[in-house]
Amino acid sequence: MLYIGYHLSSVNGFEAMGKEALLAGANTFAFFTRNPRGGKAKDIDPDDAKALISLIFDNDSPFAPLVAHAPYTLNPCSDKANVREFAHMCMSDDLQRMEYLPGNYYNFHPGSHVGQGVEAGIRMITDLLNDIMTPEQTTTVLLETMSGKGSEVGGRFEELARIIDGIKLKDKIGICMDTCHVHDAGYDIIGDLDRVLDEFDRIVGLDKLKALHINDSKNPIGSHKDRHACIGEGTIGLDAIGRFINHPKLAGLPCILETPNEFEGYKREIEMLRSY
Ligand code: FE
Ligand code: FE
Ligand code: ZN
Repeated sequence: MLYIGYHLSSVNGFEAMGKEALLAGANTFAFFTRNPRGGKAKDIDPDDAKALISLIFDNDSPFAPLVAHAPYTLNPCSDKANVREFAHMCMSDDLQRMEYLPGNYYNFHPGSHVGQGVEAGIRMITDLLNDIMTPEQTTTVLLETMSGKGSEVGGRFEELARIIDGIKLKDKIGICMDTCHVHDAGYDIIGDLDRVLDEFDRIVGLDKLKALHINDSKNPIGSHKDRHACIGEGTIGLDAIGRFINHPKLAGLPCILETPNEFEGYKREIEMLRSY
């Protein structure tokens, strides 16, 4: 079973996202927990959350876990205390809000150390997570693999492994692997996917891999750019992406498209990848 969906807009609420996902042929999806640029979140309507749960989970063909995305402008390892505090406040609040949809995923970008060094960055990220994660939460927090643009932390599997090493609640932390990001970071998912997955397994552990972002890339391998392309229109290509989503070691993981598309384009990409 291929679990695939895309990044939906949450402006019309939870149930509306579930309905749109079903129309697109999706059986998982992603959404921003609040304005993608950060800031105040809308109040959650508990009945709307329950309506989504009964629509997509309480039936014979339940969706794979949803992959909520933190605002991408948060920086948990900024050199400015107020920027770190803002990330702390948003993420802590998001984790409480996620409990209206129990048992799903909360994905975030580890951040940019802005010259303080990878070591300092990793420490700030683990400190923040240890501070906001609770034994009661049912959400698994996912670190996203990054392209290594600028001073981004998380472009190397080793860095992600060291963040996980520092987390106290180890059963509540995992990884979301983004195809565009790992390709741009220099991992050869086109020519030698088995080797990349072996390396991930050795350094992080495949048991930690919980979700996949499926994007083509506008740039060559190792470019450290992070510009997404539609599936088959970039430098990774349809064949490599088809092999990726069908790899036995990745079976059953939710696949989220974050390609530059509207509804019709996502629907087409879902059909294309299901029939690959
Ligand atoms: Fe992301
Ligand atoms: Fe992504
Ligand atoms: Zn990206």
